[in-house]
Amino acid sequence: MPDFQKIISQVYQGLEPMPNTGKVANYIPELAHVPPQKFGIHLLEMNKRAHSVGDAQELFSIQSISKVLSLAMAMAAIDEKVWERVDVEPSGDPFNHLSLLEQENGIPRNPLINAGAIVIADILVSELKKPKEDFLEFVHQLSGDNNIAYDEAVASSEKSTGFKNFAAANLLKSYGNLKNDVEEVLDFYFYQCSLSMSCAQLCDTFYLFINRGVCKQGTQHLSLNQIKRINALMLTCGFYDEAGEFAFEVGLPGKSGVGGGIVALLPEHFCITTWSPVLNPKGNSTKGMAALERITTLSGLSIF
Ligand code: GLU
Repeated sequence: MPDFQKIISQVYQGLEPMPNTGKVANYIPELAHVPPQKFGIHLLEMNKRAHSVGDAQELFSIQSISKVLSLAMAMAAIDEKVWERVDVEPSGDPFNHLSLLEQENGIPRNPLINAGAIVIADILVSELKKPKEDFLEFVHQLSGDNNIAYDEAVASSEKSTGFKNFAAANLLKSYGNLKNDVEEVLDFYFYQCSLSMSCAQLCDTFYLFINRGVCKQGTQHLSLNQIKRINALMLTCGFYDEAGEFAFEVGLPGKSGVGGGIVALLPEHFCITTWSPVLNPKGNSTKGMAALERITTLSGLSIF
């Protein structure tokens, strides 16, 4: 195995002084306060050895990264039935686009765009006794860290400005693809997106995706086949309308969020999280993408 600590430190030092080109997300007002210069990288190897640099232990809003975790929980609950309500094709459109939903009769393109994640949230609201508590408990189990929590200020900030998500949920409801109340489903969705986690906690939580469904604590949560499906969706749909570019530059499945985090992974080898809040025009962290491109190039490790 390459010397990962050396590689991530070298990449961090090369990128850290570079000016931040792009913008911190501000359509959720609470996210606009995050200092743009924050930058951290954490890498967790399959053998559980961990490597960190910069602000890798600081908490940030994971936003859309949570969509992978809610999908995992929905698959654990109803398995292949998920695909009766959401498709598995890349959208080639921004994360909150609505036009395809109308063209395709209320079946979202995939579970990692907003409309798809709202359908997954609806499934969890139906399947779980206490959706918010049970989802948080699932994340605690995966990570082995009971300190992980929702950020109420971020959740209520998004609730007051999430007009497009209300539009998507209402459209889904009109096509019969939302079983519960719009308000109830979106309340859960805004909470799941508000999870506040560090790069290190995200790597711990995503360990099951490199370890055939067995989490870092040693419990089997998903089958190998379910992991194959989720990793495939991360590769093809994990980066808004830039999934092709991410595969081209970085060559790993992953998921980004508008809080500036990116989780990426090489099954059986490592999981890596970067955090830098300044986003490119497609909504992905500019420095995070650059760092991951350099890390897979220097280590010679990607799925290709
Ligand atoms: N909660 C955010 C939204 O629905 C998530 C967006 C993202 O991270 O892509 O707008």
